[in-house]
Amino acid sequence: MEDLYSLIEIAESNEDYRTILEILRWYEGFSCPRCSCTEAYRIKTRSLFECKNCRMQVSATSGTFLHGVRNLRVWVKAILSFATSEGQSAVSVARLFNRGYSTAWFMMQKIRMVLENGFEESGEAYFLPCSMLKEALFKASSGDEHFELDEAESCSEPVLSGRAAVLVAFLLGTFRGVSRKYSQLYALEFAYRSLAVSAEPIRLLSMFVRGRIARRKTITSYVAPYLIRLPSAL
Ligand SMILES: [Zn+2]
Repeated sequence: MEDLYSLIEIAESNEDYRTILEILRWYEGFSCPRCSCTEAYRIKTRSLFECKNCRMQVSATSGTFLHGVRNLRVWVKAILSFATSEGQSAVSVARLFNRGYSTAWFMMQKIRMVLENGFEESGEAYFLPCSMLKEALFKASSGDEHFELDEAESCSEPVLSGRAAVLVAFLLGTFRGVSRKYSQLYALEFAYRSLAVSAEPIRLLSMFVRGRIARRKTITSYVAPYLIRLPSAL
């Protein structure tokens, strides 16, 4: 793993990042996604592996959340930006990577979606009611009508303290407020940035060389389960 950290430090080109993803995906050796054969030929010119048994050709990203992504450098850098405590809005990501706003928003939305999937697998967590985020929820969004407060939630008056107050400040400071629809994903991002795992870029990256191909519409409409579970330390 130490080697991987130093590779990340010096990576510059798309090829460098592809190599990192290859190591992460097949850390314990190649395994064919179709037949599980562990031997493959390497097709250098196309950055592919060909399964010795069934001849399927796979790249480090095929069939994963990063399937079809060409600019791995930008994507990996954006993903790794989640391993820092500083939040990035779509505006700042667009500026940073010289992309349009909607592309930047899409990237961040997809990264949050994958994080949510990753969190789903880890156990320790508790529910964060939307009412705790109330002060930061003021951006309109087309999906908001699906998110009416239920009775138990609306009559509770949680005292914002400690990290929850920091979370609201994060939502206001980084995103200038968020919509109710996506609020749980933003809250999750905060949890990830602030607790998780600021020191674990590898764990973060490895979430992306698993998973499945996600369609654009699935990503843009993705919302975390209402009342997402956050690590209990929050
Ligand atoms: Zn195979």
